[in-house]
Amino acid sequence: MNIVAVANQKGGVGKTTTTVSLGGLLARAGERVLLLDLDPHGSLTSYFGYNPEGSDSGLYTLFQRRAQGQALNPLPLAVETSVEGMSLLCASTAMATLDRQLGGREGMGLVVAESLAMLRAHYSWVLMDCPPMLGVLMVNALAACQHLLVPVQTEFLALKGLERMLRTVSMVQRSRTRALDVTLVPTLFDRRTRASIETLRQLRGDHPDEIWPGVIPVDTQFREASRAGQPLTTMKPSSRGSKAYAQLLDWLLEQTPLGGNIHSLREAIR
Ligand code: ADP
Ligand code: MG
Repeated sequence: MNIVAVANQKGGVGKTTTTVSLGGLLARAGERVLLLDLDPHGSLTSYFGYNPEGSDSGLYTLFQRRAQGQALNPLPLAVETSVEGMSLLCASTAMATLDRQLGGREGMGLVVAESLAMLRAHYSWVLMDCPPMLGVLMVNALAACQHLLVPVQTEFLALKGLERMLRTVSMVQRSRTRALDVTLVPTLFDRRTRASIETLRQLRGDHPDEIWPGVIPVDTQFREASRAGQPLTTMKPSSRGSKAYAQLLDWLLEQTPLGGNIHSLREAIR
């Protein structure tokens, strides 16, 4: 099981879009995918037509039960999405209270990791959409994942937010037994603007080893796809945005020690 977290402490940079787009590509290629909505705002949950205001959610329940000393199997909590082969563990707005409720409690940083361990036979990929703040949910995601994707919007203010995110990562690295692979993903790239071009140049200069060499361009079809409740990558695989995410996934499969039959998977997403 490959576990990927998508995180940046800045909002509106493409975290949810990246999670949905990659999940769609993997499911279309025949992989069994589970998405986790770790953001109390529940954008990913809403994307697929579920209500994060509801009293119950997959993830909130897992944390609650764990706090009561029970390790709940998350499988029955996962719901279907518009894409065959792709399930979702929903967020609820109640998750915003988790830090206050259980932040300091022993073992609460590993709830997601322990839960996912029970799902190894059921999914080949887990993609986690992270909240834009550092807290018990982000800590859980960073402890559970093998690979971290950091979408970075190619605009001037993005670099400050990135430094904050990378400080969080290096803090987490120290408590991990296995190093966390990090990839920066330039998003919302508009080659007609100076801000995009300059920011991209600076990102590549500052982080040559972590940055994916491609870019995710601005593509208005992402918004249409989100309105339709479908990944753009399954709704319109030939769109510019979809092709860019397919290139990102192909690069990740080539570069990083992710498991599974990578060769046939790379063929399938082409
Ligand atoms: P985050 O999860 O980091 O807050 P989102 O993925 O929700 O960011 O993206 C914020 C907004 O920008 C959404 O309305 C989304 O549809 C839009 N968006 C994301 N990526 C792109 C893109 N490459 N081109 C155009 N719009 C995008
Ligand atoms: Mg989001």
